[in-house]
Amino acid sequence: MSRKLLVAGNWKMHGSLAFVREMMSGLSSQLPAQINYDVAVFPVYIHLHEVITSKSTHVACGAQNLSEYDDGAVTGEVSAKMLADLGCDMVLVGHSERRVRNNENNEEVAKKFAQALKFGLTPILCVGESSVERQNGTTQTVVWQQIKAVLDLVGITKLAEGVIAYEPVWAIGTGETASANQAQEVHQFIRSQLALNDDTIARRIRILYGGSCKGSNAYELFSMPDVDGGLIGGASLTAEDFMAICQQADRLSQGV
Ligand code: PEP
Repeated sequence: MSRKLLVAGNWKMHGSLAFVREMMSGLSSQLPAQINYDVAVFPVYIHLHEVITSKSTHVACGAQNLSEYDDGAVTGEVSAKMLADLGCDMVLVGHSERRVRNNENNEEVAKKFAQALKFGLTPILCVGESSVERQNGTTQTVVWQQIKAVLDLVGITKLAEGVIAYEPVWAIGTGETASANQAQEVHQFIRSQLALNDDTIARRIRILYGGSCKGSNAYELFSMPDVDGGLIGGASLTAEDFMAICQQADRLSQGV
């Protein structure tokens, strides 16, 4: 089953309105009108409107987080309904920076995933092990616990309406990329676990790799059989760097 590659840029807490305008005009002028892969960018909340109003139609826009609640006395949070109302398409859930810094646990992340689906947003569920967990040989256990919490809450059919991003924590922002084989090993594990629930759905769900992915390693990573694109942090912060990754997705989507 062929899955469309997705190149998603997580801008984290970077930028300004001027940065957003420069990025969006760079992407609009450099991305061809027709592409066979998907592109998405994830600015901070207050820059979402600027991205949504300036993006070309084939670029999706997502938030970096959302509330687990519909609405109410939850100061400082933003709901899925508000994001959908604004015109967002996607949302990140469970990024490791939030799991670590904001103590987001698997159950909370699962609720956020369900909220996103409830309001028509595509959630990208971020999972991944720390360096200690990898050294201890618990990568598969950790990653599967993170996914299973969502699976238990929403079921396999709903899970597949989202995207999974395998992001080893030790590779995020460190310059230390997982090798293509290391990424493939975990992606294949995830897909085979999902296949135990439903083989057809497991073959359909997109699993992105994230962690120091850049133009020079994207082709090798994305060409692995179970890697369906990337969630990109640092290398999504200039149009030139991000386009270098998109070009590799373009080559692969054209079979070259
Ligand atoms: C990320 O934070 O999702 C990420 C992949 O960051 P980087 O590409 O900078 O490692």
